Amino acid sequence: ELIPVSELLSLLSDQCDSLICERELKLSYDVDEGLEVFGNREQLLSAILNLSSNAIKYCETPGEILISWSQTDTGSEFLVRDSGPGIEPVHLGRLTERFYRVDDARTRDAGGTGLGLSIVKHILAEHNSVLEIESTVGFGSCFSFELKKPVAEYKESSTDLPIR
Ligand code: ATP
Ligand code: MG
Repeated sequence: ELIPVSELLSLLSDQCDSLICERELKLSYDVDEGLEVFGNREQLLSAILNLSSNAIKYCETPGEILISWSQTDTGSEFLVRDSGPGIEPVHLGRLTERFYRVDDARTRDAGGTGLGLSIVKHILAEHNSVLEIESTVGFGSCFSFELKKPVAEYKESSTDLPIR
């Protein structure tokens, strides 16, 4: 189904507001207007909620989180960037494994099952996409994925192809 991104983000922001509670986190949104994506509404909401709630959960206060969804040449990109503790390179490759959690005091305190990112990975696979993770210890992390435009749109726009 075709979903307006604004719809997903307004559902997301309701949930994020309640997760932030009274913590000193500045959350901002940057969304290209009129953007639509093709996919499963509940699944995509679950994916962006998992990524955003991680950012909120693991970010130190005072901190900043940016959530953006922008148009790209081939579709659109969702991104959540936090000014949190960052993740050591040795863990990056394993984060999306089921039950994998970075074993430090922060993660132990935060609680959780270690399933969130494995669910995100699964949902993105259903949408022909992959999770990209960039992180620098002491600076923060950025989780993102791209959703490609449906193939039908490519065909419509390739009017320069000879018709036989
Ligand atoms: P669950 O999501 O099931 O409640 P969880 O948050 O521990 O539990 P995942 O969402 O899969 O599990 O994340 C796996 C691990 O990756 C986390 O335990 C945490 O150590 C690390 N992590 C995820 N997101 C961030 C982030 N934004 N900043 C720092 N560490 C992160
Ligand atoms: Mg999580």
